[in-house]
Amino acid sequence: MRFLITGGAGFIGSHLAEELLRKGNEVAIIDDLSTGSIANIQHLKGKRGFSYTIDSCANVPLVAELIDQCDVIYHLAAAVGVKLIVQSPVRTIETNIKLTEIVLELANRKKRPTFIASTSEVYGKSLQLPFSEDGDLVIGATTQGRWSYACSKAIDEFLALAYWKEKRLPTVVARLFNTVGPRQTGHYGMVVPSFVRQALSNRPITVYGDGEQSRCFTHVSDVVRALIALMQDEQCIGHVFNVGNNVEISISNLAKTIRQLTGSKSEITFTPYDKAYGAGFEDMRRRIPDLSKIRNTLGWEPSIDLMRTLRDVIGHERGDAVSAGDACSDIA
Ligand code: UDP
Repeated sequence: MRFLITGGAGFIGSHLAEELLRKGNEVAIIDDLSTGSIANIQHLKGKRGFSYTIDSCANVPLVAELIDQCDVIYHLAAAVGVKLIVQSPVRTIETNIKLTEIVLELANRKKRPTFIASTSEVYGKSLQLPFSEDGDLVIGATTQGRWSYACSKAIDEFLALAYWKEKRLPTVVARLFNTVGPRQTGHYGMVVPSFVRQALSNRPITVYGDGEQSRCFTHVSDVVRALIALMQDEQCIGHVFNVGNNVEISISNLAKTIRQLTGSKSEITFTPYDKAYGAGFEDMRRRIPDLSKIRNTLGWEPSIDLMRTLRDVIGHERGDAVSAGDACSDIA
């Protein structure tokens, strides 16, 4: 099979490319390197069946050609990371909506099955835990830039589902919960790589808010396994799936655990949200996926626990020979 991955030089895209190649497929990626990096795909260059194009998905003739040459599309190109979203809301909204419009329209011309990456952020401030795919989305005021990410991704979901309903373009949507693993950068605020880097350099570990907010972290290898399975089963077409781990940890316990695992002397500091992200910032206290839909449809379950995930990230940041490739082959 020939796959096209938009955003293929990003954190998740590069792991997906690696696994699809390992399974004997051809993979073409397109990435404008806005948040992805060449370093993420360095090890794939020259591999049989791999090709890459550094350009934006807004380059319509180019994307049309890449779509023409592939069998299946994974659309992962997006603006991600709460810091980036708060700092550059125009870029977030435009990137997330325009690029998805372009990809779906071109995919529809050739009727190429298309995967659309969405996010657990769409659940917003919902208190209906665990979050299930048909639950309400509770988004805050438009004056809070953070919510533009959830809204832009919700529009992507609507559009993907509409293309299936109205035009019979096979689409699948996954809401990814906090995904972590080697190669994720802390530049856009993501908590695990940020804490690991702070701990390894004995700088203060910066917990935002009171630290009692919690998240569930999924190893990128588990996510990649779900993404591949979702595009292999016709039952998934026209559906939205949660993809994540449902084991919760508070952010202050995450800080303590990372300090312990790294043997760091870092102090743990608490920074008010306003200082970290700007006035009036709203965070969600808890975010847990209901996994029954993906479990019942595909038998998919996360297989890598938080300790192993954190060790993997720490090993990568220390420059050990740990790679997601090793983790992928462990669970294959
Ligand atoms: N967070 C933190 N310190 C950091 C970065 C993030 O305490 O340096 C907190 C953040 O406020 C949130 C959680 O960690 O409550 C997860 O943040 P992230 O940006 O990784 O993902 P989110 O779940 O917010 O999309």
